Amino acid sequence: MSPAALSRPRVGVLAVQGAFAEHAVALADVGAAPAEVRTARDLDGLDGLVIPGGESTTLGLVAGRSGLLGALREATVDRGLPVLGTCAGMIVLARATACGEHQPLIGGMDIVVRRNAFGRQVASFEADLDLPLAGPDPLRAVFIRAPWIETAGPDVEVLATWDGHAVAARDRTRLVMAFHPELTRDRRVHQVFVDGVRDRREGTGPAEVTRSGGARVRAQ
Ligand code: GLN
Repeated sequence: MSPAALSRPRVGVLAVQGAFAEHAVALADVGAAPAEVRTARDLDGLDGLVIPGGESTTLGLVAGRSGLLGALREATVDRGLPVLGTCAGMIVLARATACGEHQPLIGGMDIVVRRNAFGRQVASFEADLDLPLAGPDPLRAVFIRAPWIETAGPDVEVLATWDGHAVAARDRTRLVMAFHPELTRDRRVHQVFVDGVRDRREGTGPAEVTRSGGARVRAQ
């Protein structure tokens, strides 16, 4: 295998529901080899995983019915597979939702999220977000019926806030965004994630999936 192929990390995109095709394009753009994940077996051999936006209730129910939810939990919680969760993907990685809806979650991240938090009237909006992890220039963020992070535990670093609410965060193996980085041409979020996945696989970088950059801010 050529050195180029060796350094192309295999990153799965959960393709059960939602905006998965755009993530696959973004991953390929930043040098990863994307692979669609529909069954538990598709998780074999992955270096990282993206859980896209969509509808978290549907995602949890569909994945739960096929046994995939348990496999996702095993991969990301028990084995520490690095994961990027966007919007609904962030919701399913949370340990709980603020309203205590009974919806199946993967869990594992010490955050509580509020679904549709910005209100139904402003279902969608765009904002120039200060996300130091991605560099000094603001990131154009597309929010679609977006959640926010209501509380974050001590092992979670909040990476960006909007209107006083935490909208991006990470822990040792998870990077989560309330918005849709795959829907713009800006590839910095995917680049940071894939670089972290590659470093981790090759044992050349820090244990964290994502390099440092963001100031440590507590979610309120
Ligand atoms: N509001 C959706 C949910 O609760 C998430 C929206 C999205 O992923 N764009 O699952």
